[in-house]
Amino acid sequence: MYDRRGELIQVTAISGGGRREFTPISKIPESVQKGFIQQEDKRFYLHHGVDWLSLLRAAAQNKKAGKIVSGGSTITMQLAKLANKNSSPTFSRKLKDIFNAYRIEAKLSKKEILELYLNSIYFGKNSYGITSAARTYFSCELNQLTDKQILPLSKIPRNPNHIVPSEPVYFSYPLTLPHFVNHIISEYKKSHTALPYELHTTVDLEISSLAQNYLREALEQAKASRITNGSLLLLNNEDGSVISWLGNGDFFDNENSGQIDGVLVKNQPGSSMKPFLYALAIEKNILQPSSVLADIPSEFGNQKLYIPENFNNRFNGPVRTRIALASSLNIPAVATLNKAGVPAYLEKLYELGFESLHQNNTGLKADLGLALGAGEVSLYELVPAFSIFVRDGFYLPVKVLSENKHDKKLTNVRQVFSLDTARIITSILSDKGARALGFGYTQTFQTRYPSIFKTGTSNQYQNIIALGATEKYTIGVWMGNFSGNTVIGKTGASLPAWVARKVLDQLEEPDHPFPAPEHYHKERICSLSGLKAGPHCHATVSEYVKDETTLPACNWHQEINGHVQTVYPPEYQKWLRSQSGKAFIEHSASPLTVLTPNDNSLFFYSILNQEKQAIPFELSGGNEQTLQIYYDEKKFATISRPFVFTLPVDYGEHSCRMLCGNEEVTVSFTVR
Ligand SMILES: [Zn+2]
Repeated sequence: MYDRRGELIQVTAISGGGRREFTPISKIPESVQKGFIQQEDKRFYLHHGVDWLSLLRAAAQNKKAGKIVSGGSTITMQLAKLANKNSSPTFSRKLKDIFNAYRIEAKLSKKEILELYLNSIYFGKNSYGITSAARTYFSCELNQLTDKQILPLSKIPRNPNHIVPSEPVYFSYPLTLPHFVNHIISEYKKSHTALPYELHTTVDLEISSLAQNYLREALEQAKASRITNGSLLLLNNEDGSVISWLGNGDFFDNENSGQIDGVLVKNQPGSSMKPFLYALAIEKNILQPSSVLADIPSEFGNQKLYIPENFNNRFNGPVRTRIALASSLNIPAVATLNKAGVPAYLEKLYELGFESLHQNNTGLKADLGLALGAGEVSLYELVPAFSIFVRDGFYLPVKVLSENKHDKKLTNVRQVFSLDTARIITSILSDKGARALGFGYTQTFQTRYPSIFKTGTSNQYQNIIALGATEKYTIGVWMGNFSGNTVIGKTGASLPAWVARKVLDQLEEPDHPFPAPEHYHKERICSLSGLKAGPHCHATVSEYVKDETTLPACNWHQEINGHVQTVYPPEYQKWLRSQSGKAFIEHSASPLTVLTPNDNSLFFYSILNQEKQAIPFELSGGNEQTLQIYYDEKKFATISRPFVFTLPVDYGEHSCRMLCGNEEVTVSFTVR
């Protein structure tokens, strides 16, 4: 099996345990060809299959010795002998070899005969052919054999028990990506198809090796928490092909069942499934990114009571859909599933390739728990499903074999979500500001290229999953343990995301942003109500709004008796009372967040358009009404909401520090 660049991954054993690699004659070094001809058949290029002179001499030698000491067989006759099942050294068999040698010479050229011979002969130690022999005896590729090594090898075919002198004998077949190789073999077995002689797969050995290093490093760090296993699947978004498939950190870790393939093991996905649920709700027009969901203690359903706790263990009151998804809030997710309907969601999950969730397979209880990642799925299902967001809604099955160049057609492609739904989810999952409520400003997600991330944990951190995608690649990393032991503490919760990020950093990524949805436009909305921003709104944000909808003006912020007040809808009253002292300070629900520009941005100053250029800033959240701005540590301005301003352009490196009450953010940028 080879990787996408033609690097050898593994030589799997043929039936009986032997190894046989084929090398065309054009790739067999001249020195090897000459060495074997010299040893076996000096007049190979002169005879027509049989060397009578050599046969007569052998007969004379054998008569003198009283037993067979020499065969006198040519290379062609030895090839004929290999094809002859009867191997007893009788005179009639020898005659048959002679007859067949003439037939072979009549059909094949000398080079073709030599090629078949060198690739067929048995070298002992379960090795067939010169390429496998080189690997077995000298741990090297065929073209690395020295003359000193060729000589003892050329003596073996006559006597397979011949001992190769002076050089150490050891076995050196590569055994990289064993889980991946085993998966391919088992797929062939399942379909009752014989494994072909040569398989060209889609994996990249170089990237896989890097990925394995990161995975092992993360597992090392998580050891103390009883996390012993981890797996990783990296796909190319263009055709769904596997770039890296790591079933576990270490295949040979017997103590922790290293041979189990973690890519195929089913685990609870936790919150990593939430994007599919919100995509369904957006697709069904139940939600828009601006729609407000209630993150307050709630009851759902007729009989069952759900009070799922949030990741950050607090209730946030009204939250826009964008923030609810990006910050992975639980109650809004359950509410969304309640509206979209469990059967519709399950149907969508099947469409997304989650075969594991088929009820008749698992006896899965299909209820609102699905919103929080109940049910068990594998990375093998999660990663291709997650990739549909950066693929404009198209699902592609996982592909492991590279097809030949003429067969570029993608099969089994299906559109599961509309282009716009996919792009809205991409916009949300790449929004680092929206993520802050649930996760703070994790450096892990701050990539220099556009990226989306989603994480999930379940069973008290037993299963930790991170999914990441860029325009070109999608990655999934799982960490936990196969033994079912309880994981200690929260240590390592962010490690899979760290691995995913590190691997994506190694890949070539475009620097243009993700494409915008087509039938949405940007509108300034109230960050609390999600409605069209009015004159009294404390904080506003720019958000995608569906073209056909007309957002009503915000009526949560009203001027009453000369004072601007926040009037919450009735459903929030109970929650408000529980927010001791926090009532009516709505923007505390959202930390001070720089929406533009990204930290460490690079701007290019154009001399053609001088007076129109400025560095645009936009912030949201914060718990005060004014923002103090320090440009390169010098006081620049104090502004009130909305927090939108520009800085003059000046070459070089700069920093901008912004203060809002007790919150402070700094952005660095460079102008060239
Ligand atoms: Zn408002």
